[in-house]
Parts: sequence; C-alpha cells; structure tokens
Amino acid sequence: MRSELLALRAGHVFDGVDVRQSGMVLVEDGVIRDVDFTGAPPPEYATVTDFGPDAWLLPGLIDAHVHLCWDGTDDAVAHVTSDDHETVLETARAAAATTLTAGVTTVRDLGDRDYLTLALREQVPPTQRPDIVAAGPPITAPGGHCWFLGGETEGADALRAAVRERAERGCDVVKVMASGGAMTPGSSALDQQYDRSDLRLIADEAHRLGLGVAAHAHAVQAIADVVDAGFDTIEHFSFFTPEGVGLRQEVLDEVVRRGTFVSLTVGIRPGKEPTPPAVVARFAALMDIVAKVIASGARVVPGTDSGISPGKPHGVYPYGLIQLAELGMPNREVLRCATAEAAKAVGRAGRKGVLLPCADADLLVLGSSPVDDISAVADIRAVYRAGHRVR
Ligand SMILES: [Zn+2]
Repeated sequence: MRSELLALRAGHVFDGVDVRQSGMVLVEDGVIRDVDFTGAPPPEYATVTDFGPDAWLLPGLIDAHVHLCWDGTDDAVAHVTSDDHETVLETARAAAATTLTAGVTTVRDLGDRDYLTLALREQVPPTQRPDIVAAGPPITAPGGHCWFLGGETEGADALRAAVRERAERGCDVVKVMASGGAMTPGSSALDQQYDRSDLRLIADEAHRLGLGVAAHAHAVQAIADVVDAGFDTIEHFSFFTPEGVGLRQEVLDEVVRRGTFVSLTVGIRPGKEPTPPAVVARFAALMDIVAKVIASGARVVPGTDSGISPGKPHGVYPYGLIQLAELGMPNREVLRCATAEAAKAVGRAGRKGVLLPCADADLLVLGSSPVDDISAVADIRAVYRAGHRVR
C-alpha cells in the first residue's frame, strides 16, 4: 500500500537560503520528497493543503542552546539538582512540547542531568518533541560551573574518558564549561576552568569520535583558548572582564577566519529581566558586542539558553529572532541563521533547516512575511514534525 503523500502549498517559501514564490512541498513518510516552484499542479493522489497566497512556508526553526531539564522558574537550579528522575523527565517532556509548539523543530540541548534528554528522546515520540541534539551533562571542573549536573572532570585521562562515555551513550555533541558561570554559587564567569591543552584534547577526542564540541565561554581568555582549540561553537561569546565586557578584536577576527560558529544568547520574555545579575549589569555592553559580531560577518546561530530562569522560558525563541533583527541583522539573514546555518552548527546539515528532497519534513507555516517583519515568526499557522501536523 502506498503511504500518504502530502502536498503543502503556500504563496511564499523560504527554503533555508532564499525566498521563492508559489511553492509546493511534497511530503511522504516524514521526509520531503520534492519541492516545486514552477506552479505545477499537485499529483492527483496527494492530499493537498493550500495555506493561501499570504502564507509563508519555511523549514522548522532550530535553537542551538536549550536546557530541557530546567523548568524556567526562579528555582530552576534547585529543581534540576534535587528533583527525582521522573519529575525532571516530566519537566523536559513539557519543555519539549512547548518548544515544538513555538515552531522550533530541532534543539541542541547543552546541559541535562543524568543523560535524561537521551531518555526523553527514547521515550517520547518525535511528533511530541523537537529533534534533540544532545550533550548530556556538561564537562566541568570539580566544583565548577553547573557541577551539580554531574559532569565534574579533571585530568587528561578522565577528560578523554568523559568524552568517550558521551559518545558511547549516544550523545551528539560534547559541552564543556571553559569558563565559570554566573548561575553557580562559588563559580566566577571570569575564571578559566581548563587550560588550552585540556581543551584541545577534548575537541580532538570529540571530533575523532564523530561528535561536535561546544564551549560555554564568558571569560576573554577562555574564549580565545576554545577558538584556538578548534571548538565548533562558542556559547555566549561575552568577553567578560572584571570591569564589564571587552571584545577582543583579534579573537573575533580569528573566529571569522576559521568559520567557527558563535552561538549568540538571545531571547528574553517581554517584561522580564535578563539573567543572571552578572549579565544584567553588563547587558547594554553585551548587546553592543552582539551587534559587532553580527556586523563582522562571523557565522552566527541563535541559542536561547531556555529553561534557566523566568526570563528564559521554553518557547522564547521567536523573541530571540526579533532581538537579532533589532541588533542589526537583516531579516533574511535572521531566517538563514535560524534554519540552514543553525543546522550546520548543530550537526544536522542537509537533514534540517532546508526545504530539499530527502530532508526531514519539519516545517513551519506563517501567516505573514517574516522578511518584511521578523515578528511574523510568532504568527504561526501550522507546525509539521516528521511529516505530521502538530499544530
Ligand atoms: Zn546554557
């Protein structure tokens, strides 16, 4: 028996790279079979959904930095540390559903506890969650940033073993806390947690095993070291100094030269503060750095850090895209960063973020033009995940 063929039509299409007119996407078995921009009629056996002349069809969006196990409350750290497995899994399940409803069909989870995102991926069907690119617990120094997630590791042999453990368990990416962080009592975002040789060892081992490698880095020297060590994505990229922030131009130049992805932390729920206090104090200067990174031509992807606080609830992603546009990124570029570019950054190139034959049928339909006004990313008419309409 032939499986059902869906023909989805819309007046406008963004295919992950370019804008097209009058598009039709054919979907079968969760995969895009074909894409047509010639105005050809749908195959007669197809089930047709025409979203109309004003609608925009695009690939589902990709959030490069989330924490599904974190519940987005003021007590998120206490909950993710102390709650039992079932409770944390329930938090993650709800976070995943909310994220998918917001049009985000792929997330990269950069810090869970006890590899619970892998359990989530196994237990919850794809149509009830985004695709999850999982890091498991971040590798961190003893007592260091987010030590409570269970990834404390030091010394070359132990670091190599920690990378191998993540590969064996089925993680896609290794997350390393290269500097301290502002969310962890006793940890300082100004301090480095690993030296350059440790960072290089981690990056090399991850790449040897076919995994991506992402670094949390606030401190200036930590950022310089992870760029040098060959990390794929740098999270936050915030250049914290004791006085505030200080972008180091030669580091940004090197990022541009290497094509390293900068995962910019964006997206705050309107009416809420950014998080945590160390970021609040530096916020205006941080946004100035983001604007400079955007203008530099560096490869940029949006990551929300959703889950860590009430200002960063799951599903906050559309506000992150609006923020990028406000900081000077052209709307079309914002859409590229949120789809095809993000797919490359998280290791899903060709499968996600593009409307091409053989790509997964994770799709978003908007009611108006995100090229004219990026806030249209919140004007959602439909979301498809693995070929199933989920909204
Ligand atoms: Zn994070």
